[in-house]
Amino acid sequence: MSGLNSLTIADARDKLRSKEISAVELTEACNTAVAGSDALNAYSVKTPELALDQAKAADARLATGDAPDLCGIPLGIKDLFCTKGVASQAASNILEGFKPEYESTVTTKLWGAGAVMLGKLNMDEFAMGSSNETSAYGAAINPWRRQGSDVALTPGGSSGGSAAAVSGDLCLAATGTDTGGSIRQPAAFTGIVGVKPTYGRVSRWGIIAFASSLDQAGPMTKTVRDSAIFLNAIAGHDAKDSTSADFAVPDFEAALTGDIRGKKIGIPKEYRLDGMPAEIEKLWDDGAAMLRDAGAEIVDVSLPHTKYALPAYYVLAPAEASSNLARYDGVRYGHRAKLQKGEGIHEMYARTRAEGFGKEVQRRIMIGAYVLSAGFYDAYYRRAQRVRTLIKKDFEDVYASGVDAILTPATPSAAFGLGEMADADPVKMYLNDVFTVTVNLAGLPGVSVPTGLDSQGLPLGLQLIGKPWEEADMLNTAYALEQAAGFVSKADKWW
Ligand code: GLN
Repeated sequence: MSGLNSLTIADARDKLRSKEISAVELTEACNTAVAGSDALNAYSVKTPELALDQAKAADARLATGDAPDLCGIPLGIKDLFCTKGVASQAASNILEGFKPEYESTVTTKLWGAGAVMLGKLNMDEFAMGSSNETSAYGAAINPWRRQGSDVALTPGGSSGGSAAAVSGDLCLAATGTDTGGSIRQPAAFTGIVGVKPTYGRVSRWGIIAFASSLDQAGPMTKTVRDSAIFLNAIAGHDAKDSTSADFAVPDFEAALTGDIRGKKIGIPKEYRLDGMPAEIEKLWDDGAAMLRDAGAEIVDVSLPHTKYALPAYYVLAPAEASSNLARYDGVRYGHRAKLQKGEGIHEMYARTRAEGFGKEVQRRIMIGAYVLSAGFYDAYYRRAQRVRTLIKKDFEDVYASGVDAILTPATPSAAFGLGEMADADPVKMYLNDVFTVTVNLAGLPGVSVPTGLDSQGLPLGLQLIGKPWEEADMLNTAYALEQAAGFVSKADKWW
């Protein structure tokens, strides 16, 4: 059988349970797709033998007739997740050779549910970036190309390998992490669905930290239904993560009725940016019309502090990163610099960090150390925290007025060419996150749904922002949007 790698989780689950296919067959199809995908540079590590062992175990479990939804489903895992005995480097040279002694909670839950690991996925170094170009492994490549062009495009970042792998059918689904948009932006750039859950919904234990008050793991899948299934498998309280919430996890898939009659959907006027491409405006208007046609009420809302979100994020995220990354000093993990005669421990630290961290990571560490320093703490860090509170309150006010979800574009453009931003001011790259960072600052759930193509044939996505802990409702609205948009396009296979 061929093409099994292009199945959705839901279809594969049903075929596995009815014995139409086996987990081993499905895994072999994925292993073959992965082996032939080097041109996409999506995988940093391939684990085909481990995958086959897990698939055999899954088939045994399926034979008992009592297997969880993800049993036998082949997945890719972002390199930010610690996987026992399998290299986990956060796409950084500083973690060269690091093989964790333990498994992250998310992946523990996935393997416990019988899922199969195909390998580790490329990403921006320490999840800092929007194009996968900061990776020590080199950029992952978007399976999509502009019509009639062979220019290599970014799959977005930081979960670029995850997005490329799901979009290119190199796995059925993948894990991502989202600190400022790293699940939703790459999902939009590659025509897939990406969910950033409410902060605290999914355990961060064993995920290499970037900015701990913003980081959240989530699913990257081919459909909304698959995201619902995946989120059910990874969500829930974890005693090992003090920021994970002890709330009941609803059945997200059961919530997908597609009935959104009477729901109030807010359109925030501050997200209508000056100079926004007409295609993005149209996509957004079309999305609102689809939800209206499905019975929702569309209302204008205001999130007045939106314009301060990016500056606040780019103070807070680097501040937390500078602290989280202080542990990489050549003593405990990964790379250690070779010293010249007469050099001591200080030179070892400095040289190790200079050699091990890439440019963007160094920039963030320096910004972070600066905004936390005694003279500037109040002017930058404390101020940014206050702005964060105001941004959160903007959302609270909108939701208190009876709005159920907020609709925005996911990104200000379609995927751009690799290298296109290389000489640009780093702030230009940071602008990619303009629609997504607010959601992390406020701790809310968000989902990116592919709803159209631009004039060059590239996918575009819309974002729905939900109320805290209301992923089920948000996913149902996303499902209605997905049904209405009917996005089924795939990249032509050229790799
Ligand atoms: N692009 C943003 C950044 O560079 C967000 C990254 C992320 O969500 N991990 O910080």
